[in-house]
Amino acid sequence: MIGARLDLAGCTVLLAAKPGSAERAARYLQAQFVDTLLQANTCTGALALLAQADVLALCAGQSLKFAALRDQALRQGIPVIELDPGELGGRITLVGGGPGALDLLTLRAATAMASADVVFCDRLGPGEFLEQLAPQARIIDVGKQPGHHKVTQDRIEDLMLEEAARGNHVVRLKGGDPYVFGRGFEEVESATAAGIPVSVVPGLSSCITVPSAAGIPVTARGVTRAFTVISGHDPLEEHQLQQLAKLGGTVVVLMGMGTLEHTTAGLRRCGMVGDTPCAIVESGTTGTQRTTHATLSTLASASRAAGCANPAVIVIGEVAALPLSLDAVQPMSLGATA
Ligand code: SAH
Repeated sequence: MIGARLDLAGCTVLLAAKPGSAERAARYLQAQFVDTLLQANTCTGALALLAQADVLALCAGQSLKFAALRDQALRQGIPVIELDPGELGGRITLVGGGPGALDLLTLRAATAMASADVVFCDRLGPGEFLEQLAPQARIIDVGKQPGHHKVTQDRIEDLMLEEAARGNHVVRLKGGDPYVFGRGFEEVESATAAGIPVSVVPGLSSCITVPSAAGIPVTARGVTRAFTVISGHDPLEEHQLQQLAKLGGTVVVLMGMGTLEHTTAGLRRCGMVGDTPCAIVESGTTGTQRTTHATLSTLASASRAAGCANPAVIVIGEVAALPLSLDAVQPMSLGATA
């Protein structure tokens, strides 16, 4: 049986491969959770190990060199798989890791992590669970503290391409979704330009999940039917503030702590009412999540007083007060007597 897809988890696999492809093929097989991996790079060496194997793995294009081995395996009823060069070559997967909680990572993201040879990570997302998610991988921390870019974006892209060119499965783990203020598309472009296969695993973006974790729905029927997500990394320009103030709906600001004063004062100046409810949600979905409620007029001072810090999502709009409105709901008393 050649080329068939087998579940290799828990199997003893004999890999017979030429030295040039053996390392990558072994990494691929280990990522399939094989129990024991036996290796040989000559036909004679492999024949001596064949009796111990549940499955024989060969690399595409090497069947002539290992023809006698293959025939012997088939005679003994040992399944033979042929590894496709596509499975062995380097590739890059951009993984959206969600907002931080381990169980907000998708199954697809966890699968990609489990087969990674190298993981590039930063300070956002489920970084504290790397040991669990990718115990086999080399971890490269390219973490960026706001204002302090430890490794430049160009350098990150070069390093990822170098690792993939060596035949590694490179995972770039990002907080939230790779395409939401995550520079994901630049990384896809650079991999494509270098001819390296690249795929993207979408993630749960903090712009929705972090407010939600604090009980704030970004839309609510009868309250708002739109939400706008903006980056506060650079101060908003006057015309942007004017448009935003008139737009209505919920405004969600990411990377907005450094420009909070500018944004709130600007929106007030452009006509947004001062008692518009607002909230800052820090470290959403993690053990240190905290919410600070205020109004547009008081948000900057409330943030200073509470010592709010990154990472934080800022929510501006009527929905920000909805969790507070629940306090006004009287719980039904059961079994009350008159
Ligand atoms: N790609 C990410 C956003 C990257 S920009 C996503 O889709 O979520 C980084 C900003 O995301 C931070 O400055 C902060 O505003 C926000 N952020 C990410 N994770 C967060 C978390 N757990 N709690 C609060 N804010 C978070």
